[in-house]
Amino acid sequence: MKSQTPSSKFQRNPKLQAPNPDSEGCIRAHRFGAWDLELLWNLELGIWSFLRLAILLLLAAAPAFAAPALQTRHVLLVMADGVRWQEVFTGAEEQLISKEFGGVTKTNDIRKEFWRATPEARREALMPFFWGTLAKQGQLYGNQHKGSTAHVTNGKNFSYPGYSEILCGFSDPRIDSNAKKPNANVTVLEWLNGKPAFAGRVAAFGNWDVIPYILNRERSRLPIWTGFEKTDPKLNAHWAMLEKLVADHTPTWGTMMTYDTFIHAAALEHLKTKRPRLMYVCYGEPDEWAHLGRYDHYLQATHHFDRFVGELWAASQADPEMRGRTSLLLVTDHGRGTSNASWKNHGANIADSRFIWMGALGPDTPALGERTNVPTVTQNQIAPTAAALLGLDYKAEQPQAGPVLVDALPKITR
Ligand SMILES: [Zn+2]
Repeated sequence: MKSQTPSSKFQRNPKLQAPNPDSEGCIRAHRFGAWDLELLWNLELGIWSFLRLAILLLLAAAPAFAAPALQTRHVLLVMADGVRWQEVFTGAEEQLISKEFGGVTKTNDIRKEFWRATPEARREALMPFFWGTLAKQGQLYGNQHKGSTAHVTNGKNFSYPGYSEILCGFSDPRIDSNAKKPNANVTVLEWLNGKPAFAGRVAAFGNWDVIPYILNRERSRLPIWTGFEKTDPKLNAHWAMLEKLVADHTPTWGTMMTYDTFIHAAALEHLKTKRPRLMYVCYGEPDEWAHLGRYDHYLQATHHFDRFVGELWAASQADPEMRGRTSLLLVTDHGRGTSNASWKNHGANIADSRFIWMGALGPDTPALGERTNVPTVTQNQIAPTAAALLGLDYKAEQPQAGPVLVDALPKITR
């Protein structure tokens, strides 16, 4: 564990020091140190002029001295594919717990599990970690009933454009399909992995076979686990065992997708054993069940997603190095339609599917809870916010990126 002493803050100025591997490109104002004072003295100013100037400079630097160092050393960027903001904030929708609109045969079982009299009780039944921990200790955006809107900027409202917007911090009009084309853009994962302090400490887990293309595995050389690899058991026995389970189970979506169960088992193990600085985990089941018109499975997969996030968070807090040093960012790639038929789908032709939700939790994020009456937030803010939580200015490198989600950071660093 690295402590952030006041003297280490001085070392953050790259102009004064050799690059500190932990602070490359750090968002910090210039701070005056002994070096600057010596320079003034050498200008042969009178002693009083020197002292006056020195005091002025120190006063000007005072806010910087008061700035608390960010606590975050690890970021978990976790996604669920195609989970609507409506379920996140109001729980299960009654009309869709039906055979006619939601393909639900055992309606009594699903009502017992997820139906409650109020939206608050319904959302807690569906997503207990979100409402028991995230909304109390962190922040949650996107409840349009309470004046908080979150949306994508890509205008496509489907997966590849959304994943790329989340991971690169901007939308790219050239990305207009889910085809397996290597992403021309560099993701925040690849960018971080290229820095000495993060090299080999970045990893991605996602059960959709297009994810390696979105992360451009060939160019980025990022470790990406989808379940479809053939890992040498001598290199990673856990991955190899999970890959056997993937190969042995009856496929539901062919070779395109596996269950979230496998992805979660791989990601959780990786977090516990490798303590990544940035880990991206993507759970894909909710979107697939929705496309199949199975509202019961969509709810169950969303419920599992909530539990999986809770388990990742609990594992980070149980680890002595990661406890109090880990931030969690949560997002979805797109929303879905709102009618009894269009809830199954999304895309440019379903305007409501541009709306999403976003969440943040961690030692640097003020506990503002469910946000109400706040400015609109957008999907392109996730990548720069992940970098900012790690003390890095992503936008300086990638000017197209959206603004940092300032409320997710301590006031003094904004
Ligand atoms: Zn979809």
